Amino acid sequence: MHHLDIAGLDAHYGKLPVLSGIDLTVGRGDIIGLIGPSGSGKSTILRVLMGLLPPSGGTVKLDDEPVNHADQAALRRLRDRIAIVFQQYNLFQNMTVLENVTIAPVKIKKRPRAEVEAEARALLTKVGLGDKLARYPDELSGGQQQRVAIARALALKPEILLLDEVTAALDPELVSEVLDTIRVLAREGMTMLIVSHEMAFIREVASKVVFMADGRVVETGSPAQIFDAPQHQRTRDFVSKIL
Ligand code: ADP
Ligand code: MG
Repeated sequence: MHHLDIAGLDAHYGKLPVLSGIDLTVGRGDIIGLIGPSGSGKSTILRVLMGLLPPSGGTVKLDDEPVNHADQAALRRLRDRIAIVFQQYNLFQNMTVLENVTIAPVKIKKRPRAEVEAEARALLTKVGLGDKLARYPDELSGGQQQRVAIARALALKPEILLLDEVTAALDPELVSEVLDTIRVLAREGMTMLIVSHEMAFIREVASKVVFMADGRVVETGSPAQIFDAPQHQRTRDFVSKIL
C-alpha cells in the first residue's frame, strides 16, 4: 500500500492544461524531491494534493483510498493529514511565536490549550527556537520565521508534509538552518514532498527524485540516477545548468 498514489493526474487552469498524466507513488517515510524549471507544474501538484485545485482527470489516493475533490468533508479530512509550507511564511505578525504555532490546533481543532502549548514548545525546541517563544515575527530573521512556519505546520500533526521552495526567499546565509530542520524531520521518518532548487540538498535527503517539465514527469529515479545518469536530454540540460 502506498502512502500516496497519484495516477494519470491531469489539471487545468481554465482551459490551459498544466498537469498531464502525472504518475507518482510515495511510500511511508519517502522523501520525494520534485525538481524542474519554473512553470513546470511543481506547485500545481502540491495544490492538487492539498485539495486546493480539483484535478480534471486521474486519481489521488491516500492509503489506497481515493480522494473525492467534490466532497468538502473529504477535503477537510485530507487537510488534516497533509500540511504545506510555502516560500512566503505568512506568520501572524500580531502574535508571538508560540501563539502562531498554537492558534490553529486550539481555535480550529478545539484541542486543549495546555496540551497544544506543551507540544508547540517541543516543536519549537526541535526547530531550534525554544528560546524565542515570546518573540514576535518581526523580531526574527527570515530563517527563524520559516522555522516557525514549519513548526506551525507540524502542530497539525500531518502525516505528509509538502514544502514548496521554503528556502527560496531567504538570504543565502539563512538557508542552511532551515535545511537542518528538514534534515531532522527526514531522520524522524516524515513523509515529505520537497520542491526545491537546492540540488545538493535534494540529492542528500531524497529517496526519489522526480524531474518535471511542461506539466509532465519526464524522469523519476534515485538521486544518483537523476543527477549522475539522467536518461532524457531535458533532464541532462536541467541538471547540468543547475549543479
Ligand atoms: P512551478 O511551481 O513548477 O513553477 P506552477 O505549478 O506554479 O509551476 O505553474 C504551472 C503552470 O501553470 C505555469 O504555466 C503557470 O503559469 C500556470 N499557472 C500557475 N498558477 C496559475 C493560475 N492561478 N492561473 C493560471 N495559470 C496558472
Ligand atoms: Mg512553484
